[in-house]
Amino acid sequence: MKKKTTNSYDAIILGAGGAGMMCAAVAGQRGRKVLLIEHADKAGKKILISGGGRCNFTNLNTPADRYLCANPHFAKSALSRYGPQDFIALVEKHHIAWHEKSLGQLFCDGSAKQIVEMLLDECAEGHVELTYGQEVSDVDHGNGMFRVTYGETTAAAPALVIATGGPSIPKMGATGFAYDLARKFGLKVVEPRPGLVPLTLGGDETLFRSLSGVSAQVIARCGKAEFREAALFTYKGLSGPAILQISSYWKRGDAIGIDFLPDLKRGWLREEKHNQPRTSLRSVLARKLSARLADILAERTGLVGELANIPDNKLDEAERRLADWQFNPNGSEGFAKAEVTLGGINTNGLSSQTMEAKTLSGLYAIGEGVDVTGWLGGYNFQWAWASGWAAGQSL
Ligand SMILES: Cc1cc2nc3c(=O)[nH]c(=O)nc-3n(C[C@H](O)[C@H](O)[C@H](O)COP(=O)(O)OP(=O)(O)OC[C@H]3O[C@@H](n4cnc5c(N)ncnc54)[C@H](O)[C@@H]3O)c2cc1C
Repeated sequence: MKKKTTNSYDAIILGAGGAGMMCAAVAGQRGRKVLLIEHADKAGKKILISGGGRCNFTNLNTPADRYLCANPHFAKSALSRYGPQDFIALVEKHHIAWHEKSLGQLFCDGSAKQIVEMLLDECAEGHVELTYGQEVSDVDHGNGMFRVTYGETTAAAPALVIATGGPSIPKMGATGFAYDLARKFGLKVVEPRPGLVPLTLGGDETLFRSLSGVSAQVIARCGKAEFREAALFTYKGLSGPAILQISSYWKRGDAIGIDFLPDLKRGWLREEKHNQPRTSLRSVLARKLSARLADILAERTGLVGELANIPDNKLDEAERRLADWQFNPNGSEGFAKAEVTLGGINTNGLSSQTMEAKTLSGLYAIGEGVDVTGWLGGYNFQWAWASGWAAGQSL
């Protein structure tokens, strides 16, 4: 019988997404012998579909308070040691043209493919060995070595990096593998849930689904969080950047408050009444919002007829309602549509400097599999780069 061989490395990295490739390139270029194992047929699939195909690869401002984590201090160290300017320098080294869209969000002028090619080039510069398309069937640890079996091959190394991401968009090969592995080696997992995800409306609020395709510039609020961006009605409920952002702060049972007219000062409806007493609330709203949205909002406030005939206190009440319209989502569109996964490997078990497990020397976890989730707008890739870089420096 043919004897199985075991190949030896300094580090084995599981998952060739943004975090895994960054980590592999950094460690490889520091002279480490690195094996990067990807179960899909190519690297960086989420990068390829990100930012509408142009990859919103970072944000000019990435303070830790724009990340959700059970320990709000955890991400500070990695984010401050590898910042947006470091990634921009890498992008420029590879002559990739980029632009700022809005709110500090940086995109490729060309294609997200350029970012994947850049990371693969960086891996090649570090002589990283890459393997695709084979499932990892076993991972174990003993005598200070990790052994990973994939296909017919077994690889061994004193260091193992979990970079297999979170379960958002399972049809792209995303799995909960990171959590299973983390638990196997004694790390805890903060319950994963979908983040940056459209919310669904039911019951009485299904009426709003008829507005599918209508958008408005709003402020969306949930608890202490608020985002001023576009909201979009869909045939299932609510989406658009403002809703995706607030969804990460939303929990089942919470209401979401929408300010449909964030630019208007208090008392604006009384002013409209004074200036145009013969107009209706519906007409006033239709000048500021889409006509279909105006119809539903006016109808729901119950104020019909000319403003002149509506008492001021009723107008004040309508104004307050339009500034804090309460939606009670009955759920979200789930991992199938979530851009990220909230929760993940508990950061209490990891060093914030190196991403190494506190209780098992040589085990690391980086990227989306860890309980660090950024806002929409390049924050999640910056976390992938920064956590990958931190681990890569330590391997
Ligand atoms: C549609 C969409 C658009 C997005 N747009 C942006 C954006 O513009 N800007 C931004 O900052 N963020 C964006 N994100 C979020 C961003 O893509 C992720 O936060 C980021 O890719 C996480 O990187 P990662 O390396 O940790 O995980 P991933 O990119 O998920 O990489 C994990 C890798 O591990 C592999 N893998 C999984 N299980 C195994 C296994 N058992 N064995 C071997 N390999 C395995 C996967 O195939 C994958 O290649 C977007 C996400 C989605 C879904």
